Amino acid sequence: MSLYLLPAGALPRQSLVPGGIAMIKLGPDDPRDFRFRGKPVLVATINGETNALVGLPLSLKPGEHFIEAKSAGQIRKKFFQVDDKKYTTQHITITDKRKVNPYASDMERILAEKARKQKARNHYTMAPVDVDFLLPVVGTRSGSYGRRRVFNGQQRNPHSGMDIAAASGTPILSPSAGTVIELGDFFFSGNLVYIDHGQGLISMFAHLNEIDVEIGEQVKKGQVVGKVGATGRVTGPHLHWSLGLNGTWIDPALFLDD
Ligand SMILES: [Zn+2]
Repeated sequence: MSLYLLPAGALPRQSLVPGGIAMIKLGPDDPRDFRFRGKPVLVATINGETNALVGLPLSLKPGEHFIEAKSAGQIRKKFFQVDDKKYTTQHITITDKRKVNPYASDMERILAEKARKQKARNHYTMAPVDVDFLLPVVGTRSGSYGRRRVFNGQQRNPHSGMDIAAASGTPILSPSAGTVIELGDFFFSGNLVYIDHGQGLISMFAHLNEIDVEIGEQVKKGQVVGKVGATGRVTGPHLHWSLGLNGTWIDPALFLDD
């Protein structure tokens, strides 16, 4: 039997800023069905303690926020403080101008894909979650999550994930067990795969040159789901990894070692 050394990830870390994660300890008497802005919140055991993990949107205003649950006819709330974080701006030049200013004939496809992506990001299944993640690709991490982006001089959405530069064809591993809930060739994201890890924790991998899973497939932690490529709106081969919690993309670095 050969040993296969998997790249190390880590347990999630708290970061109380827009784009971060609030980790709220739950006691034995606390309900387990807390919600944040109407969305169910992930509950996981971390180092022997039960925690609610709350994804904080990039657009969240700094200040006091709360999760809430209905328990025995009462509303229970737990409050937490979110600090401000300034993200920098990144200027990117894209040679394929159509990926920055799509043709009118591209719009129907783009809107249909946007709806599919929104549905996948908000997918929810009640299941136990392994939050001890693996690094999906060994490569150079950009740490550009949250950066405001200007493509060919035009302002676009902030960067919603992590870019890991690696050679085309490098295998992409599922960071945790899950189910493939969406895949295909998308206008901006190129070949993409969504994996539902349970309780609203969703991985999205983009710009693949090859997809190695099928829709509905159960994947194991460390299973190859595809290969790194340069499809969609890119400047070169890399993996784009977005990580969703309660319907919002958070910084995937919070699930990896520093
Ligand atoms: Zn990216």
